[in-house]
Amino acid sequence: MQRISNYDFTGKRALIRVDFNVPMNENFEITDDTRIRAALPTIKKVIESGGSAVIMSHFGRPKSGPEDKFSMRHLVGHFSKLLGVDVKLAPDCIGEEVKSMSNALKPGEVLLLENLRFHSEETKGDEEFAKKLAENGDCWVNDAFGTAHRAHASTAVIAKFFPNDKMFGYLIESEVESLDKVIKNPSRPLTAIMGGAKVSSKITIIENLLDKVDNLILGGGMTYTFVKANGGKVGGSICEDDYLETAKNIEKIAAEKGVNLIMATDVVAADAFSPDANTQIIRADAIPDGWEGLDAGPESIAKFKEVIENSGTILWNGPVGVFEFDKFAVGSKAVGEAIVAATKKGAFSLVGGGDSVACVNKFGFAGGVSYISTAGGALLEYLEGKTLPGIAAVRGE
Ligand code: AMP
Repeated sequence: MQRISNYDFTGKRALIRVDFNVPMNENFEITDDTRIRAALPTIKKVIESGGSAVIMSHFGRPKSGPEDKFSMRHLVGHFSKLLGVDVKLAPDCIGEEVKSMSNALKPGEVLLLENLRFHSEETKGDEEFAKKLAENGDCWVNDAFGTAHRAHASTAVIAKFFPNDKMFGYLIESEVESLDKVIKNPSRPLTAIMGGAKVSSKITIIENLLDKVDNLILGGGMTYTFVKANGGKVGGSICEDDYLETAKNIEKIAAEKGVNLIMATDVVAADAFSPDANTQIIRADAIPDGWEGLDAGPESIAKFKEVIENSGTILWNGPVGVFEFDKFAVGSKAVGEAIVAATKKGAFSLVGGGDSVACVNKFGFAGGVSYISTAGGALLEYLEGKTLPGIAAVRGE
């Protein structure tokens, strides 16, 4: 497999799949340009080593065919400014005119193709369409981890047209390396903290992690499905009655595999789902009617901290309470602090999944963890143990 760091881009057009699906307001102003910034190291590497770059991405969800509001023309100015290069814009992503524009590129020049999803063949993974896209490059660089779980034309199918000239960009490379440090060769003990609202949305990941982790902290709304499954009283707490058997089964498998399963034993219960509800600290299995558990209690937090601070590798996905309300953010904040402390002592920590990233940012822990993944669906599928088409295509699997 080729590596971007030692590939010779001299005189070549690198066709780079990025994720420029950025949020935009009604005045077409980009409200968060993180995704564009994240792609810059790869693009700079290409143009600074004698190549030219042809950039392709999807943007928004056009229904059928071109729609001005989803045109890349709204991005090209800001992208040029960030890159420090006057980026040219193509009228489409395939076709003769685009091909001659890409062929005319000189070293150091950059061409942005029009939205891939203006063609329905992109998401269908159409091979003819992938072939036409491929005509715009001499090598293919996949740097869109956010869409790596999709077998689309530009993210996976296109690979066959570059049998010897395909590689990951820096962003995917660091995502994959970081995830592998957790999933494939962690320093032990490996602790996963899974939080969030529901068991149902995390069950496949939890099952996959049971094969790998030493400690599994299950927190947040999931707690109450486990408590009820064991005959406890959960009051009005969030609880999935259809998953009581699943919860019992997870406990059984954890015991069989020697995984140390840790859950809240005391909770902060509230008399309403509200930022200024009345609260009481109470046993997790004795919550009266009219009350609901919204955060981990002090005894549970102490247990979580001890396990986290003594870990060699830590994966955090999902808050352990309703962190959006300050009153119920104490547990999630403590988890973040413990992760930062463990990282300082040499542990590798990875935070991923929308809400835990929001949590880390809210409390200013971003600089204290080893890696933050912003990939969403692709990250979750990786943790579920699935093969991601965009990764397999580059590796030739
Ligand atoms: P998820 O998207 O599954 O990671 O869920 C994240 C959401 O779970 C956050 O918005 C939290 O407010 C919510 N959450 C965490 N703990 C609880 C709880 N005990 N009860 C209700 N919602 C919770």
